[in-house]
Amino acid sequence: MAKYIFVTGGVTSSLGKGIIASSLAKLLQSRGLRVTIQKFDPYINVDPGTLNPYEHGECYVTEDGAETDLDLGHYERFLNIHTSQANNVTTGKIYQTVINREREGDYLGKTVQVVPHITDEIKRRMKLLGEKNQYDIIITEIGGTVGDIESLPFVEAVRQLQWELPEEDCIVVLLTLIPYLKAAKELKTKPTQQSVKLLSANGVHPDILICRTEHPLTQDLRKKIALFCNVKEEAVIESVDASTIYEVPILMLRENLDLIVLKKLNIHDYKEPDLVKWKVFLEKVKHPVRKVNIGLIGKYLELQDAYKSILESFIHAGAMNDCKVQVINIHSENISEENVNETLAGLDGLLVAPGFGYRGVEGKIVAVRYAREHRLPFFGICLGMQMAAIEFARNVLGLKDANSTEMDPNTPEPVIDMMEDQKRITMKGGTMRLGAYPCVVKEGSLAYRIYGKTEISERHRHRWEFNDKYLDKFEQAGMIATGINPETGLVEIMELPGHPYFIGVQFHPELKSTVENPHPLFVNFVHAAELYREQGKKKESLQNVN
Ligand code: GLN
Repeated sequence: MAKYIFVTGGVTSSLGKGIIASSLAKLLQSRGLRVTIQKFDPYINVDPGTLNPYEHGECYVTEDGAETDLDLGHYERFLNIHTSQANNVTTGKIYQTVINREREGDYLGKTVQVVPHITDEIKRRMKLLGEKNQYDIIITEIGGTVGDIESLPFVEAVRQLQWELPEEDCIVVLLTLIPYLKAAKELKTKPTQQSVKLLSANGVHPDILICRTEHPLTQDLRKKIALFCNVKEEAVIESVDASTIYEVPILMLRENLDLIVLKKLNIHDYKEPDLVKWKVFLEKVKHPVRKVNIGLIGKYLELQDAYKSILESFIHAGAMNDCKVQVINIHSENISEENVNETLAGLDGLLVAPGFGYRGVEGKIVAVRYAREHRLPFFGICLGMQMAAIEFARNVLGLKDANSTEMDPNTPEPVIDMMEDQKRITMKGGTMRLGAYPCVVKEGSLAYRIYGKTEISERHRHRWEFNDKYLDKFEQAGMIATGINPETGLVEIMELPGHPYFIGVQFHPELKSTVENPHPLFVNFVHAAELYREQGKKKESLQNVN
């Protein structure tokens, strides 16, 4: 039987419930327990696939093709496990299931209501991952903040589960904020007290309080919080601001969060935490030896969450190279032929990001040309690869009007075209080419050197693809396809063998990089950027000597 931990948030959003849930899971995993995390989101979209990145940050895609909340990325990166469709549930999904059942006649004669029908469906899904004896512990993060109208059915479902399950099988953790008032030079506990009251009014009492704070909590303050919030003093956990999210598991270990959880869940069969690899990684992140500047060319740069997995992959790859990757955000709409030289000067590598729609694509194409011609390490992901193909078609093959039919449906040279089976699809939600697909890598290519094998599998999220009617022309002129889907023949990787490092991939390698398994495409790209930087320095010193 699996045991359940529910993580809720109070006072304000953005306290980092996902990081706390992942850190707790990491500690329990490091003690030999089998753990997974799921997220329940209160919004009505069936999944975040149809949301603009400005609304909700990056859309994370799982192996089985679910479009999910970006917190699932943290779960996978921390735990080095795969999540699935079942790990992200929204209010939309719950209602869709209940309404479909109503139409089928499952509730014939009955009034369908939030309690019990919606809450029953929430509870069914909360327990789903625990049913197959695959996990000892299921952590469930509840999106939103205690007190939101939208999250009430989820809180009610937790209340019912706390009542239905044996006491030692279910605990509730509340993450709150202890604000510091500069003028009074004081940490304030009232908002936390009120959050606990709000949650208690809904019948749920937290077993553990995790207090986000800019300053350490004194023992007196912990006592006060414990007394007013009716939790044990040892269960008041301080979560002081950390320099990197990867430090949070270590901070939680120091606070004994894992031991308190194990005690409350009455689990005695565990070992000392094995965090050796994690600590080595953390040291490397905190004390890099070298530095590279990588330009991230995208259009959702106002919001860092839009490229979360790419930024985290650079942290993993940087640590592997003992190197700090300074990511320099460059808005694709601001790049033009006139300013490209000065805008991209000083970079050691260029990553052209994934994206949708025509806004900003011309800037991306100008940036790719600069990287190709200046022999600057280039890495294109999804739309980034498509832009590299268009740039090559226009400036090397002389097909001046080359484009993607996404940007210009009537282009005479559709080097990027919609996939055949996509042309029949009219519904937008969940209908892209999604999830893991196999790819065969050509021996002797850069991709082969990077992966060290011919058979790989990567995750996808797109509707357009390289139009292989143009492949011969491309290959004759020097841009070759080095990764092909074995079933459909779709081009998945393109590279320029004459260039020191130029690779575009139709898939999303950033979705598979974890602390324990940094993605080789990122690791090698950072290494190529380091070499480029070194060569630049050598050239500079030679010029000085001359
Ligand atoms: N818009 C492009 C497509 O759908 C690229 C998608 C992406 O970058 N994820 O094919």
